[in-house]
Amino acid sequence: MIKISLPDGSVKEFAAGVTPMDVAISISEGFARNVISASFDGTIVETTTPLTTDGSLILYTWNDEGGKKAFWHSTSHVMAQVLEEMYPGIKLTLGPAIANGFYYDVDFEDQKITDADFKKIENRVLEISREKHEFRLRPVSKAEALEVYKDNVYKTELISNLEDGTITFCDHSTFTDLCRGGHIPNTGIIKAMKIMSIAGAYWRGDEKNKQLTRVYGISFPKQKDLTEYLELLEEAKRRDHRKLGKELELFAFSAKVGQGLPLWLPKGAALRDRLEQFLKKAQKKAGYEQVVTPHIGQKELYVTSGHYAKYGADSFQPINTPAEGEEFLLKPMNCPHHCEIYNVRPWSYKDLPKRYAEFGTVYRYEQSGELHGLTRVRGFTQDDAHIFCTPDQLDQEFKNVIDLVLYVFGSLGFENFTAQISLRDQENRDKYIGSDENWEKAENAIINAAADKGLKTVVAYGEAAFYGPKLDFMVKDALGRQWQLGTIQVDYNLPERFELTYKGSDDQLHTPVMIHRAPFGSMERFIAILIEHTAGKFPLWLMPEQAIILCLSEKYEIYAKKVLNLLENHEIRALIDNRNESIGRKIRDAEMQKTPFMLIVGEEEEKNGTISIRRQGQEGNGNMSVTIEEFAAIVNEEISKTLKTFTV
Ligand SMILES: [Zn+2]
Ligand SMILES: [Zn+2]
Repeated sequence: MIKISLPDGSVKEFAAGVTPMDVAISISEGFARNVISASFDGTIVETTTPLTTDGSLILYTWNDEGGKKAFWHSTSHVMAQVLEEMYPGIKLTLGPAIANGFYYDVDFEDQKITDADFKKIENRVLEISREKHEFRLRPVSKAEALEVYKDNVYKTELISNLEDGTITFCDHSTFTDLCRGGHIPNTGIIKAMKIMSIAGAYWRGDEKNKQLTRVYGISFPKQKDLTEYLELLEEAKRRDHRKLGKELELFAFSAKVGQGLPLWLPKGAALRDRLEQFLKKAQKKAGYEQVVTPHIGQKELYVTSGHYAKYGADSFQPINTPAEGEEFLLKPMNCPHHCEIYNVRPWSYKDLPKRYAEFGTVYRYEQSGELHGLTRVRGFTQDDAHIFCTPDQLDQEFKNVIDLVLYVFGSLGFENFTAQISLRDQENRDKYIGSDENWEKAENAIINAAADKGLKTVVAYGEAAFYGPKLDFMVKDALGRQWQLGTIQVDYNLPERFELTYKGSDDQLHTPVMIHRAPFGSMERFIAILIEHTAGKFPLWLMPEQAIILCLSEKYEIYAKKVLNLLENHEIRALIDNRNESIGRKIRDAEMQKTPFMLIVGEEEEKNGTISIRRQGQEGNGNMSVTIEEFAAIVNEEISKTLKTFTV
């Protein structure tokens, strides 16, 4: 008998040779019908693989990432089968699952695949799938594998690097592929499939090698899922922050300034400033002090912090002075600078915690191919802060930071998030620095704080930073995509490296604990995600312009100016559109800018001292006539729904 432990903590006994599917059936027939893949002791197995030792088994359905991976990878086998059928003589290489779907890299040699062929391939994939072919993994000897692929240099290279006795083929229908496994039971559950695109890809990612054709595809267990996925992609395109950033005139890039270096235009800079003021105000209440540090620092500073050893070679190279032979680095992190601020004078335990905050701009080299709008840039501003406290204060400080992060998310409309508790790898503890005792203290502080605040959490072993555990906030946006936003990290290492101390109640010198935290993460990335989450319709308190006054004709310009003045008295941000254009055109342009309120002024309004409000995204030419005071009340009420006052 062998003991199989399941994710719910239960342990069941089975005869050796039991398969994951047998285990699934023993749980329930209904559940087993949905099981499409499994992993045993952390290794992906087939649902038909006989299990012969004790171990832990995870059974995957389509709703699990593991299930989707197997589903997509299995579809890549069927697609490869169809490609071989339609383009005889092509050479198949590798066909893995990816985050969304799968690809297969193919050497088409003198043949060519074009968009026009996609439909035919998709139909054939579904035709074969409907025949419900089982995927069967079978071991082969190295000699046999090499013989089968003697005409395929790519597979030959792969097989040569494998050890004899570990090689397997996967058969389904009439098709066989070199594969180590991870398949769904049979092709029958593949009900929808689409080829998304084709692209060039070098064999093994090396540009010295031959360029292959990468065929990207995706598949689903229901046609409806594919339709929804394609709609989501369309919506994501409409919301792309690079597109909206241009339309809303928030930011730009200039080839002359350099790649990955965003330029904030007046509207974008104002929006960013509002976010900064919002956080500064809450931080002030929470006892933070603002500091300012330079954009470069001596190389030695980052040698001390350990950043140079870890990132130096892959980052911007040192800047040298013309005469003194000094070496400086563009600041990759604010932490070392803040440690030196702490070090300016001695502290007693009664002075702690010290909380230093800075909107600090840092520079990190990213390869040009990795750059993407505002989400991957070479220079960005962190809403950074470092808290230096005694070990006894860690628990409370950590909870306070969680409160601040939740306040930020709440004010910006991110309601759907999970907190990931990132702990040490349980097996391999050598890669972390610091004593076990400190690690346990820090890990417990995070676990307790998260539980105390009632956060929905997941634990990720091996995801901790090398210097300490952390709490990462994973936020789902309006399209259901997950982003990592805020982070809170506990660090015992930097205080030691920088020889930070405080005098304890025992009159001895002790090392403080350091918390790194950034609720937004980076301003650039945060704003990019916010643009896509809201489709540019930011919360009212944050909108660059909350209202635009549209004159029915030039005659009403004087009245419009009067309205603008009154709005300014109520701290409402507004503009006047007095162009010699039709009211229809003015409304369309304001809609494009996503301006929340259009205030239409004409003869009637001037006579009565009112404005006619038209809400962005709604029909009609001004459907409510109100006074300025009434309008200000509407705006303030709406703002107070999202923007609460931060309380400690
Ligand atoms: Zn496979
Ligand atoms: Zn830091």
